[in-house]
Amino acid sequence: MNNPFLIFAAVLALGAAHTFAQASKATQSMHQEGKIRLFYYTTGQQAVDPLDANQNQIPDQVEDVLLQTQAAQTLWIDVLGFPDPFQTERFHSASFLDIHFRHKDVLKANGVTYDELQHFNKPGDPKDTVSICFNVATSVKAPANLTPAHEFFHLVQNSTTYFKNRWFTEGTARWSERGLGTGALGPAKVLSAWPLPESERAALFQRTYDASEHFWNPLAKAHGTNDSLPPGSALERLQAMRYTDGSPVLKDLQLTGWRLIRNVITELAQGDDEAFKELGYDRWSEDNQKSPQNDAFIMKAIERAMAKMP
Ligand SMILES: [Zn+2]
Repeated sequence: MNNPFLIFAAVLALGAAHTFAQASKATQSMHQEGKIRLFYYTTGQQAVDPLDANQNQIPDQVEDVLLQTQAAQTLWIDVLGFPDPFQTERFHSASFLDIHFRHKDVLKANGVTYDELQHFNKPGDPKDTVSICFNVATSVKAPANLTPAHEFFHLVQNSTTYFKNRWFTEGTARWSERGLGTGALGPAKVLSAWPLPESERAALFQRTYDASEHFWNPLAKAHGTNDSLPPGSALERLQAMRYTDGSPVLKDLQLTGWRLIRNVITELAQGDDEAFKELGYDRWSEDNQKSPQNDAFIMKAIERAMAKMP
């Protein structure tokens, strides 16, 4: 999920959770590896599952979310060459990817990604420290749930383009779940014609997650023959990753359409500049990021991405 209203709610909830934590003397724990930091509670409403089968003093749930996030990072950046959020113009000043565990009743979703850089003022951080961030629900068990990978894909999108039209953000994030997950592609309806007739474009622009099966997956199928993951040392690292229960994080070597979707994301870096100029935006306000006027510019970027396919 990538929704500013929910993000706002989540920020309020974070404040509320903090107050609750102080009242109940719950302290937040942190688990860090490289630039990824996970913040979690072991008591109170926001507590994670205490199971620690490998007895390393870190709840397995926390380790598994870290593992899936590292695997997503390895897949999208190192194996497939998507933009690295830490290297993009928008997010390069971020020192960390911070992930907070919150109760689903508080988060109102399995996961929520922030699209703006965050000043969390975590203990010990220099004052100007900024982070990119997503939060996951304490109900999410990564070995059976691809929420962390889905949210990481939103960070890739947000690092590259300001467009937040949900048929693009949720549609391609849903497509991306097959990257680590089983199978090459989710369900795919047949596109009636290309370019899409006006009535179908209008219907598409209203979609969110199901834009994947109605649009992105068929498009990926049409432009994605033989899209297995490219071999190399990055793929070998990814294949070696195991959840705490021993199961592999990467389920298979198939993902249809990754070249096309990568082209789309790179084209959108330019597409949002065009929209900004041609639509006369003065800044990337929430309204501008989600404006239906962006849809035509996203479509143009898709056409350019398709023209670049072999
Ligand atoms: Zn999402």
